[in-house]
Amino acid sequence: MDYELAIIGAGPAGCSAGIYAVRAGIKATIFDTGAGGGLASIAPNIENYAGFQSITGAELTEKMKQHAAQYAEFHFYEQVIDIEKKDKQFIIKTSEEKTYTAGAILLAMGTEHRRLNVPGADTLIGKGVSYCATCDGFFFKDKKVAVVGGGNSALIEAIYLKQIGCKKVYLIHRRDQLRAEEAYEKDAKDAGVEFILDHVVEEIKGTEKVESLILKNNADQSTKNVNVDGIFISIGVIPQNELAKKLQVELCETGYINVDKQMRTNIKGVYAAGDIRGGLRQIITAAADGAIAALTSTEVLGKQYPY
Ligand code: NAP
Repeated sequence: MDYELAIIGAGPAGCSAGIYAVRAGIKATIFDTGAGGGLASIAPNIENYAGFQSITGAELTEKMKQHAAQYAEFHFYEQVIDIEKKDKQFIIKTSEEKTYTAGAILLAMGTEHRRLNVPGADTLIGKGVSYCATCDGFFFKDKKVAVVGGGNSALIEAIYLKQIGCKKVYLIHRRDQLRAEEAYEKDAKDAGVEFILDHVVEEIKGTEKVESLILKNNADQSTKNVNVDGIFISIGVIPQNELAKKLQVELCETGYINVDKQMRTNIKGVYAAGDIRGGLRQIITAAADGAIAALTSTEVLGKQYPY
C-alpha cells in the first residue's frame, strides 16, 4: 500500500489532519487540485482563529501548509479524479494519470463559491465581476463597487474593500436582515459601507466592463439602476462532493457529507472533515475536524490511539 491515509484537500481540515495523522504514526499524504489553502486562503482578514488577533487567509493557510509539510507528503496541483474501494483498500486515480493505494480516505475538499445566475454575471467575469475581493479588490481603488450577499464573507469583503480605498461600497442583500454576525455588521457600518437591503440584483450591465446594476426592491417590486465599476459576489458556497458521490458516501439534502462525531461517513474507512461536512464551517472547526478524523482513521489501519 502506498499510503495509510490519503487526505483529499489541503485546506485547514486537510493540513490539520496531516499533522495529527503522521504524529500518530500514520503514513499520510495530502492531495490538492491547486496550491492548497482552500477558500480560507482568499479571506481578506481572519479575526476569530484563536492565537491570531488578525491575520490574512493567505498568511494563515500558508503557515498551515508549511506546518503540515513537516509531516505529510503533499501532492499539489494533482486532482483526485476517482476513488474506488477494493477489498480493504482504496484505489486513487489522479489527473497526473497516476494510481495510488491507501487504507483510509479523508474527504476534505471544502466548498466552492455559489454563482449568481443573472444576465452579465458570467459574461463580465474578469471585467468587473469577481468572486474574490482579496484577489481583485486592488483594481477598484477609488472606484465604486457593490458586494452581493448578507453572510459573514460578504460583510468581511465589504469592510476590506472600504479599507483598501474603494470610493463607495454598497452591500446588497436580498432580505431586510443580515445573516452575518453582529460584529461584522457594526464594523461595516463604521467603515461607511452603504447597505441596500431587501434588494436583488436583476442584471449586471456593461459591454466592455461593468457599468451598472439593475436592482429590484423585494418589498414593492420597483427597480433602480446603480452605477458601479465592480461587483463582488459573495452569496455562499456549495460543497465539492463529486468524489463523495463516487464513493456512495451519504450526503444531506444540501449536499454536505453526513458524519458521526468521530467524522466517520457511512462507508467504512472513509472520513470527512471541514466545510464539506457542513455545520459551522469555521476555520477552527475545520482544523478540529481534521484532527479527529485523522485519529479516528487508526481504527481501520490496525493502529491504536487512546481517544
Ligand atoms: P452564507 O453564510 O451561506 O451566506 C450567504 C449569503 O448569500 C446569505 O446572506 C444569503 O441570503 C445570500 N444568498 C444566497 N443565495 C443567494 C442568491 N442566489 N442571491 C442573493 N443572495 C443570496 O455564506 P458565507 O458568508 O460565504 O459563509 C459560508 C460559511 O463560512 C458560513 O458558515 C459562515 O459563517 C462561515 N464564515 C465564517 C467567517 C467568520 O466567522 N469569520 C467568515 C466567512 C465565512 P440569506 O441570508 O437570505 O439566505
